[in-house]
Amino acid sequence: MAETLKTPIAGLHHVTAISGPAQENLDFYTRVMRTRLIKQTVNFDAPEMYHLYYGTEDARPGSVVTFFNREERGQGQAGVGAAQSFAYSVAPDAMAEWQAQMGGTMTERFGAQVLVLRDPHGQHFELVADPQAGPWGVLHSVTLWVAEPGPTAEVLTEVFGYRLLGEAHEPGGRRLRFALSGDAPGRVVDLWVADSPERARPGPGTIHHVAFRARDTDHQAALREDLMARGQNVTELRDRQYFKAVYFREPGGILFEIATDGPGFDRDEPLPQLGRHLMLPRQYESRRAEIEARLPPLTLAGG
Ligand code: ZN
Repeated sequence: MAETLKTPIAGLHHVTAISGPAQENLDFYTRVMRTRLIKQTVNFDAPEMYHLYYGTEDARPGSVVTFFNREERGQGQAGVGAAQSFAYSVAPDAMAEWQAQMGGTMTERFGAQVLVLRDPHGQHFELVADPQAGPWGVLHSVTLWVAEPGPTAEVLTEVFGYRLLGEAHEPGGRRLRFALSGDAPGRVVDLWVADSPERARPGPGTIHHVAFRARDTDHQAALREDLMARGQNVTELRDRQYFKAVYFREPGGILFEIATDGPGFDRDEPLPQLGRHLMLPRQYESRRAEIEARLPPLTLAGG
């Protein structure tokens, strides 16, 4: 039988994490990390909570980090069955300046400098020296925490089109690096296999899901079919206002999403105004007054 040539995934689309209070999250990602607030909305499944999106100035897929913002304190725990961290690409000559500003621990991985950091709510994230770094705010990679790399690796390589680049032993475990060919933003996925694994406990400071980028809805449908044929339970297509999404729990237990580029973040407000106002999907617009009254007011950078 003829081999069907599969279209590989186009890299990361976004990473969604859980934070503590929205204002602290906003201040950190806009004032300290200098990414742009590209969308102010609510968690579509729990509209009493903000869902803030950050990215590059042009809000490109592959740069987007979003947070479900919980106002109560408390801490989750990274571990097996969740993504551990996300990483931004940084021009190599800017690494020293970032470390001078942020502190953190500088290490080296697969020949590149990595600055390991935490946000105010304990979220582990990294800056990776990347000669192919594009505009500020583009993602380099995510690290997924798995007990057993094989089944997750199979989805990455056989369905998504990643290749295993190498394996490295580090203090506390080993890391397997997978990458897509080309220079797509977020083209790297690492699997972290800890010597003494603990289960993840969701809460502030942990990643909720990782979204990969389909080229269009046809590509998304083909990926969904391939996953279903392998026994994965994939959701129906969901309208996430700014993209179309399907979700599944990969064999290692981590929630994966496959998202489209369209309709895009400028669907409901023009690009220069992204993030300035609370945007609600149609089903919540009639409840705007009630929803706004329950959300804490936000002070935006420069406003
Ligand atoms: Zn998502």
